Amino acid sequence: MTDYDLAILGGGPGGYVAAIRGAQLGLKTCIIEKDKLGGICLNWGCVPTKALLKNAEVYNTIKNADKYGIKVDKLSVDFPANVKRSRDVSNRLSKGIEFLMKKNKITHIHGMGKLTSKTTIEMTSGKKKEKVNAKKIIIATGARPRTFPGMEIDGQRVISSREAMMLDAPPKKMIIIGSGAIGCEFASYFNEFGSEIHLVEMLDRVLPVEDADVSKEVARNFKKSGIKIYTGTKVSSIDRLKTKVKVHTEKNGNKEILEGDLALLAAGVTGNIENICLEKLGIVTDGGAITINEYNQTNIPNIYAIGDVTGSPWLAHVASAQGHVAADHAAGHETKPVNYSNIPGCTYCQPQVGSLGMTEAQAKEAGHDVKVGKFSFQASGKAMAVGNTTGFVKLVFDGKYGDLLGAHIVGSEATELIAELGVAKALETRWEDIAMTVHAHPTLSEAVMEAAMDSFGSAIHQ
Ligand SMILES: Cc1cc2nc3c(=O)[nH]c(=O)nc-3n(C[C@H](O)[C@H](O)[C@H](O)COP(=O)(O)OP(=O)(O)OC[C@H]3O[C@@H](n4cnc5c(N)ncnc54)[C@H](O)[C@@H]3O)c2cc1C
Repeated sequence: MTDYDLAILGGGPGGYVAAIRGAQLGLKTCIIEKDKLGGICLNWGCVPTKALLKNAEVYNTIKNADKYGIKVDKLSVDFPANVKRSRDVSNRLSKGIEFLMKKNKITHIHGMGKLTSKTTIEMTSGKKKEKVNAKKIIIATGARPRTFPGMEIDGQRVISSREAMMLDAPPKKMIIIGSGAIGCEFASYFNEFGSEIHLVEMLDRVLPVEDADVSKEVARNFKKSGIKIYTGTKVSSIDRLKTKVKVHTEKNGNKEILEGDLALLAAGVTGNIENICLEKLGIVTDGGAITINEYNQTNIPNIYAIGDVTGSPWLAHVASAQGHVAADHAAGHETKPVNYSNIPGCTYCQPQVGSLGMTEAQAKEAGHDVKVGKFSFQASGKAMAVGNTTGFVKLVFDGKYGDLLGAHIVGSEATELIAELGVAKALETRWEDIAMTVHAHPTLSEAVMEAAMDSFGSAIHQ
């Protein structure tokens, strides 16, 4: 048995950030990962999907090349090569994390771990068993797709995002269940490559956690690009046939069966809390997630939990931020809890979405006298120049004090544009700070400045 100051169970973005931070603070650290370093994010989530979506965007640009005065005579898609590029990007990044572990002198143990006491983790890798002792332990075992009775993932007809990103040809007709970020991204991706997409959402709009105007704009563009949307529609079961699926749906008591080659289940995730002996140690969980305090400690103070295994928001940057806090706290270093009111959420469908803070409805519900500023990319010179005027910037301010409460961007590069508003919100910026900050021309970011001006009636270009 080897002794460590800090042992981390799970090598995703939460786990590896915590490991690096622990090592930086002088802790003798090990990381236990049963699969590849980088976790879901680098290997099966954030990164490979963004590579696939970039491929789809390139294809779209070339398909529409005549709009830019360019003639393309013959265009064809090598779909397996498109998938291979995505896998290559993931593999490169996972190797990069291995390098970072070595550079920071973190012991990387390959195996399936479980807690056998408050300070011990036991690993199994094939027939090999190993134990480590650690003063502090961080659980970072992530999450997996949620399944429902009658809708089990078989990897063939009913698939998860993992199989979806490995398909060697786009399905002719695909039913996507769930229109959160993952569902919308795959809807965009396969639609671009010619699949007929049916997107089913139980709530009353797509991307239901976003501002209502954002959902409306995304739905409008999805419909325009041929994606069929079924909101307020519940899936009760899926029949798996040899060559197709039958998805049984119900809306307002009316039943409909949607047939497709494949069904993609993208209806949320649940934490990997099983088989790591949490019950034995009495670690408290709630609804498939480990319960934590603001420093990510569980009810056992030397055991921390971070990332997807602690519940929503299920985002890589939240996992990393929590990893940083937990490692600082474990090392006795001064730290600040994660500010959950300022977490950007990005969806890389077409059009892209980037948002943070309160929606207009949430701000009103919280009792703010709300001022909203909006600027359409249709009035942006840069948007016209790049050939994509879809979408808008919407900023939500407190009408009394002018504080930024929320930011909602839909359109080209929305996922990049949201960053300045994160800094603005962290600095408790008021509307005139954004409005009077000179933004370079021509840029899409000018729309942020104009939206701030609009909130108090002084937009110049609309
Ligand atoms: C298709 C898809 C797209 C996504 N896109 C985005 C995005 O664009 N942006 C974003 O912010 N988030 C995105 N996410 C979510 C993001 O991937 C997760 O929020 C993030 O990976 C969570 O990090 P984590 O460290 O908590 O866990 P994970 O990344 O899930 O890592 C957990 C690791 O723990 C290991 N593990 C589990 N149990 C054990 C055990 N007992 N012993 C040893 N190892 C174990 C697993 O093998 C895994 O490697 C996406 C997710 C999916 C599925």
